[in-house]
Amino acid sequence: MAVPFADLQLQYQNIKGEIDAAIAAVIRDNAFIRGPYVERFEREFAKAASVEHCVSCANGTDALYLAMSALKVKPGDEVITTAHSWISTSAMITHAGAAVKFCDTDGSTFTIDPAAVEAAITPRTVGIIPVHLYGQPADMDAIMSIAKKHGLWVIEDCAQAHLADYKGRMVGTFGDAATYSFYPGKNLGAMGDAGAVVTSDAAFAEHIAMLARHGGIVKHQHQIEGINSRLDGMQAAILSAKLRHLTGWTRARQEAARFYDAALNQIEGVQVPQLAPGRSHVYHLYTIKHAKRDKLAAHLNLRGIQTAINYPTALPLLPAYQRLEHSSAQFPNAYGDQQSILSLPMFAEITALQQQEVVRAVREFST
Ligand SMILES: *Cc1c(COP(=O)(O)O)cnc(C)c1O
Repeated sequence: MAVPFADLQLQYQNIKGEIDAAIAAVIRDNAFIRGPYVERFEREFAKAASVEHCVSCANGTDALYLAMSALKVKPGDEVITTAHSWISTSAMITHAGAAVKFCDTDGSTFTIDPAAVEAAITPRTVGIIPVHLYGQPADMDAIMSIAKKHGLWVIEDCAQAHLADYKGRMVGTFGDAATYSFYPGKNLGAMGDAGAVVTSDAAFAEHIAMLARHGGIVKHQHQIEGINSRLDGMQAAILSAKLRHLTGWTRARQEAARFYDAALNQIEGVQVPQLAPGRSHVYHLYTIKHAKRDKLAAHLNLRGIQTAINYPTALPLLPAYQRLEHSSAQFPNAYGDQQSILSLPMFAEITALQQQEVVRAVREFST
């Protein structure tokens, strides 16, 4: 039995009536750009994310750029982020005009090491972008206390962590702002690109909305020079329909993770995802570690089980950052993980049979 990495077609088939009706309504109402469906989704998502304001935009990458532009980062400023993430996080620091300062991860949760953050601070540091990687929150108490001590802003990259919480508090509510991606494969995904910045600061939200909408909220009244980064009506209507299922889908991912944990823990050589105390995990990705990762992946793929490596190269070691002249020794955890991580099939609709198939193939490899 083949097991896909994710199954967006099955998700669609399960809620086809709701999705088709949402799309038809947008076409009927000619509500393609902005309009009532976008406004409704912004209200609904703000509530779901426990914040006052949600400013939608074109994608999660723009969300990072918009948030940093609104914070007015400038040449000479340094922004600290993790060595282990999708490249948007660090690339937008550069595009917003600042310098990227990479920190290693903590060696167990794949999230940024607060001790490394503290060590990376210089008089030019202006902010920190922790990433709640794979769906597990970074150590927000430690990060917020460092930020407070040094007068830094914090933007949480929540692209992989919709509805995750840290000590009972929703991710995205700790920092000055948080960014979300609704890329189709994310835990809440559109049928195209989509993203948002969330914050509980009204003036900050308005500034971001202006930046995203040609510099003004009212047509032809350009207060500043903005960009065009809008969520379109169809994606908003689809996201509203899917948002109603997100809690259930999240629970299903967590149950699937427990199933994997229990079974894979019995297998020699497999390290299942480590959860730090007080943190929930929403398993955007279920990522194990294995010393013979490439051989294990080949074995699984031969049996029709799709896997992924998120991500094959730690950010500082990518060609894009050659100018920074980093070495792997500076990021022992992120570099070590890049050779041993393997993401297994994980999606809300995964069945016990599919999971058993994955576990059987992993066990077969190990014996
Ligand atoms: C997906 C992702 C982004 C970018 O989101 P897009 O919507 O694809 O632009 C940013 N950061 C992280 C950690 C992501 O996983």
